[in-house]
Amino acid sequence: MILEKIVVGDLETNCYIFGSAKEKEVAVIDPGGSPELIFSVLYGLTARVRYIINTHGHVDHIAANRQLKKRTGAEICIHRADNEMLIDARKNFSNLLAVPVTSPPADRLLQGGDVIQVGELELKVIHTPGHSPGGISLVSDGLVFTGDTLFAGAIGRWDFPGASYNLLLASVRNKLLVLSDDMIVYPGHGPISTIGAEKRENPFFASRW
Ligand SMILES: [Zn+2]
Ligand SMILES: [Zn+2]
Repeated sequence: MILEKIVVGDLETNCYIFGSAKEKEVAVIDPGGSPELIFSVLYGLTARVRYIINTHGHVDHIAANRQLKKRTGAEICIHRADNEMLIDARKNFSNLLAVPVTSPPADRLLQGGDVIQVGELELKVIHTPGHSPGGISLVSDGLVFTGDTLFAGAIGRWDFPGASYNLLLASVRNKLLVLSDDMIVYPGHGPISTIGAEKRENPFFASRW
């Protein structure tokens, strides 16, 4: 298995390269900036980029979609409820930045229950709305990418348009903390964790689990 974590952009987003070492095929999850840094890691891997997967449509998770798509031809995948954020700078909040950002449109619209095949590996799509309407988590053997839904010791922000605190808590509680304790959590920002550690120690859930 290939799994690389690259911290990209001004908001220090975790971009992940995940895929098959055997078949030399990868997905880039959340290329939120620093395209040259991402390319340098990809170059070292000599793997084909099959998919660009955005865990949600905020600018800090999509900002290098365009450069990556142009150079690799990979298919852009996002949940259907965040689709418009790709092409509308107001909806992905980059209209607030010096340089507004858009992405090429999605090639594949996702929904909960979908499976993305990367070489012999599978990424199962779990719809985890709350931080954004189309937020997803991606589960593979022993690990889960949680975007801005669940962080080590925290949860994503819920003070944006389109966000909901109650929905976010319900997503984490009902769809992520039910995964097995030893699953490794790869969040959209900050250090990695495990489902078990978040059940025990995350202040949003520990006392109520
Ligand atoms: Zn976000
Ligand atoms: Zn983020």
